[in-house]
Amino acid sequence: MPGIGIPPLADNLPPILKRNYGKWLSHEHPRPGVIKHDSETGEACFTVRAGMPPNARVSTHTLRALCDLADEFAGGYFRVTQRNSCEFVGVPEPRIDELIARLAQMGFPVGGTNRSLHNTVCCTGYLHCHLAATDPAAIMKAVSEMLLKEFQNDCLPAKLKISGSGCINNCGEGSTADIGVVGVHRDLPPSKEDKLKGCELPLVISVCPVGAIKPKGPGMIEIDAQRCIHCPACSVACAAMAPIGSPDGDGVAIVVGGKAANTGRGPALAKVVVPYLPNNPPYWPEVTSTIRKVVDAWSAHARKDERVGDWIGRIGWQKFYERAGLPLSFKVVDGYDARSLDYAKSNVRFNW
Ligand code: SF4
Ligand code: SF4
Repeated sequence: MPGIGIPPLADNLPPILKRNYGKWLSHEHPRPGVIKHDSETGEACFTVRAGMPPNARVSTHTLRALCDLADEFAGGYFRVTQRNSCEFVGVPEPRIDELIARLAQMGFPVGGTNRSLHNTVCCTGYLHCHLAATDPAAIMKAVSEMLLKEFQNDCLPAKLKISGSGCINNCGEGSTADIGVVGVHRDLPPSKEDKLKGCELPLVISVCPVGAIKPKGPGMIEIDAQRCIHCPACSVACAAMAPIGSPDGDGVAIVVGGKAANTGRGPALAKVVVPYLPNNPPYWPEVTSTIRKVVDAWSAHARKDERVGDWIGRIGWQKFYERAGLPLSFKVVDGYDARSLDYAKSNVRFNW
């Protein structure tokens, strides 16, 4: 009886992975972008990794070209990693240089392994989300270009993950990246009160995570500007709420020090270190220069295998700001919690 749900993995595995299932002993990185896995059977499996466009969006034309390479170099198998890199698994060692050259001809840089920038990831943002305060895919492209050397070379203290989200809902998981770029709204959500009048008790009140929406007479609401954290939850929950956001109000926050892995000091949520930078396409110079400062300070001062958050945990937030040359303002300390033993704001919710 065929299984239900997604197709079975066994039908999509390269033969070398089937032969060595559960028998892998170790792995190493013979060169940037190449991983070698050794099995107890004596087989070695070479994988070549290349960066895909932000949000893993490729045309079928591009995908066919990548699949043609997979047919030619990897036995007809192709993988997209969790960080939106593409992988060619089981490449014969003598053909690795040729595959890397062919990928370069197509504009796909090989890298993103070991102590390097792993491919940037982001949510869909402006591409088709109506809640976005910024364009995380375009920002990740600008960041990737700025850090191309760090993607293609094992030149960092540890792996570096940079992620982007279009708003504080954080679908792009900026909060668990070493460096996160998070879109922020600063306006109050506009309401179309004529539409609200049809509701006896406007249910939009219940979606606000901080209780900022209150009834103001029959079928009317008011929003507490001091409580509103400019999340866009109410904008989507009720037809009477217009989309939040404006060119002057929207922008980007930079969060630093997140990690999902249980290594080093353990998992951690990133903290806000720069609460607002303007949307400035196409290259977001304020965003890229801020990230450059953080990467350079970490590269210069961290120990080997010390992720960004682990480094900050060792030196403290005050020294982090000094070494990164970033200004410390009340907007990044107003989430102070004496129990947390540090003072950078611990979430991306703040009042303007
Ligand atoms: S983080 Fe915000 S902008 Fe990005 S997909 Fe989620 S809701 Fe949309
Ligand atoms: S934007 Fe978010 S915090 Fe502000 S009123 Fe709407 S739901 Fe509440």
